[in-house]
Amino acid sequence: MSSTWHILGAGSLGSLWACRLARAGKAVRLILRDAQRLQAYQQVGGLTLHEQDTANHYAIPAETAEGDGPIHRLLVACKAYDAAPAIARLAPRLADGAELVLLQNGLGSQDEVADQVPHARCIFASSTEGAFREDDWQVRFAGHGFNWLGDPLTPALPEWFDDLHDAGIPAEWTVDILTRLWRKLALNCAINPLTVLHECRNGGLLEHLGEVTALCDELAELLRRCGQPQAAEDLDEEVQRVILATAANYSSMYQDVRAGRRTEVHYLLGHACRAADRHGLQLPQLERLHRRLVDNLQARGLPSA
Ligand code: NAP
Repeated sequence: MSSTWHILGAGSLGSLWACRLARAGKAVRLILRDAQRLQAYQQVGGLTLHEQDTANHYAIPAETAEGDGPIHRLLVACKAYDAAPAIARLAPRLADGAELVLLQNGLGSQDEVADQVPHARCIFASSTEGAFREDDWQVRFAGHGFNWLGDPLTPALPEWFDDLHDAGIPAEWTVDILTRLWRKLALNCAINPLTVLHECRNGGLLEHLGEVTALCDELAELLRRCGQPQAAEDLDEEVQRVILATAANYSSMYQDVRAGRRTEVHYLLGHACRAADRHGLQLPQLERLHRRLVDNLQARGLPSA
């Protein structure tokens, strides 16, 4: 089985992973959106990773989904709403038993991907690392964090896991990946939409703690109903800790909305509301929040799903 890391999406996280793997001498190939993006990339000749005051260039080979050869190992590093369509295009190249690492935030996109490729193993990831694109093919490593990876269906550690340590990518294998993804989703639901609606930094929510607590109560109820009691524990306390610790920051959803970019709401608050519906749970605060957010996005001409 080939040990090449194919990386779909040379955006913020995809580039961060690609550069670190390439630096460690691992075989890496980028899969870009289309021929036009490939041509633009080839003119520049590689990715540049900015870390503090240093910038390093990595001449990583790239192709489109229509390139040749089977894919055995694929890091899926696009946004949640792009993941399933991108994998549908790539499916003919995925070898039997191929392993996919899904970096998408939220929940729902992982199952959409898995449905496209029943012959592949889907490994879910939850990342607290931070990166952003300074320009096309230029990524800045902005926040050190951690990566948890796990497979809800099979607990066995993938044979390539040491590649991550070799590349200096902080990562741990966990059997509780769904609990981690649900917890992160709940934190996101309690903070990000409110920062958009109140047009504030995370710290601005200190003036709306009643609203935050009411949401946390409903989110905790939802998590327990979804079989995730651990993800529900002390949710309100952690949300308040996060608000304080990140008081000066703008949430990722706020930044996306401000920049006129599509958000991942469908896989965050949208996923929570659909899960509540499936369980016949009435969660009025959460539903109202979702309605207000959808209206707000639509008024700005942004997709609300
Ligand atoms: P991003 O910077 O927008 O990058 C996404 C990349 O995917 C773009 O380069 C885009 O191509 C590419 N893409 C989309 N469809 C494609 C396709 N069909 N084929 C090939 N490439 C395709 O996004 P990101 O910030 O890295 O986020 C990726 C995921 O990680 C999201 O779910 C996000 O929530 C999560 N995450 C991000 C961070 C972070 O700090 N950035 C942290 C934690 C989690 P173009 O360049 O052509 O548009």
